[in-house]
Amino acid sequence: MADFPRDAILVVLNTQTSGGLEKAAAGLLGAGAAIGTPVALVLAPPNGGDRLAKEAADLGAVRVLVADLSDTAVLGVQGVDALAAAADRVQPDAILISHSLDGRDLAGRYAARSRRAISADAVGVARDEQGVVAHHSVYGGAFNVTSAPTFGAPVVTVRQGAIDARATSQSLVSEALQVAWSEKPAARIDSFEEEATESSRPELRGAAKVVAGGRGLGSEEQFALVGQLADTLGAAVGASRAAVDAGYIPQSHQVGQTGVSVSPQLYVALGISGAIQHRAGMQTAKTIVAINKDGDSPIFDIADFGIVGDVFKVVPQLISALESRKK
Ligand code: FAD
Repeated sequence: MADFPRDAILVVLNTQTSGGLEKAAAGLLGAGAAIGTPVALVLAPPNGGDRLAKEAADLGAVRVLVADLSDTAVLGVQGVDALAAAADRVQPDAILISHSLDGRDLAGRYAARSRRAISADAVGVARDEQGVVAHHSVYGGAFNVTSAPTFGAPVVTVRQGAIDARATSQSLVSEALQVAWSEKPAARIDSFEEEATESSRPELRGAAKVVAGGRGLGSEEQFALVGQLADTLGAAVGASRAAVDAGYIPQSHQVGQTGVSVSPQLYVALGISGAIQHRAGMQTAKTIVAINKDGDSPIFDIADFGIVGDVFKVVPQLISALESRKK
């Protein structure tokens, strides 16, 4: 197969356990297309490659390399081996990986092994006259900074949901990637139990809309109001750490410095004061709506729309107004 484009951006695409590419795939390929020619590396479970390669091309990958990860019980090393082989083959200007748990693990290991620079948790990428640069939102969103490597092509992990750009769909050009497995030591999964999630709501990471509740909700029972508004909007449910610590909702819903970082189109904060540690995880949301009874709460400093009022009075009215619009 012919050489790869000189401005190739290698976009690493993991797969979901339920099948299909990870949700971040469209944004990663959109980011790749904005700064070069996106070439996808699909880390596929055995025999899943063809369908996933087509999905990557539909999302804008100009070329697709499929790495068949033969042993899914081995953690991490196979992905690093595959990425090393793909990077050698493609010689990209940058490598984009989702800032998910798996993505961070892969990016860190590969950057250390290949001695490449790493830019973590980017909310955007661009090119200047010297190469690819990454944009970051840091210190609780108080500063926007740009990082660039002093040598070589960077490995960039991209925050899920942060990229709006989408690439144009391409016709499929794919090849199976030949990987020399390193057999380096790795943790292995001996057994696992699948945890059934009963929620019909979107997953918090990467959700387009998030409704989050804080200590202002007052109790676990009253926190149900957050879920009601979330369901009306088709949103995921988030929470402040104070709400989690008070036992209103499990920690997996915590947004912020020590929780999940989100970049949704819409973030609705109910009874949340807007502490810097909370803002660190949601300040890059495109539109922020805050409802808080204290007009001096710092959440209003970053809100696009704010309502000073009691959530227990405002939110039921909001829900019925939204419901009546649906009719
Ligand atoms: P509060 O600050 O108590 O605010 C409650 C708000 O509800 C108030 O503004 C009040 O006016 C309003 N309110 C009360 N009743 C009503 C009502 N009926 N109607 C409307 N409004 C009402 N926090 C996070 O969220 N995420 C993190 O990841 C995180 N990591 C941290 C890491 C470290 C190292 C530290 C030190 C702290 C961290 N925190 C984090 C905690 C953070 O500092 C705040 O304590 C926390 O975010 C506060 O949560 P809150 O806004 O729900 O509670």
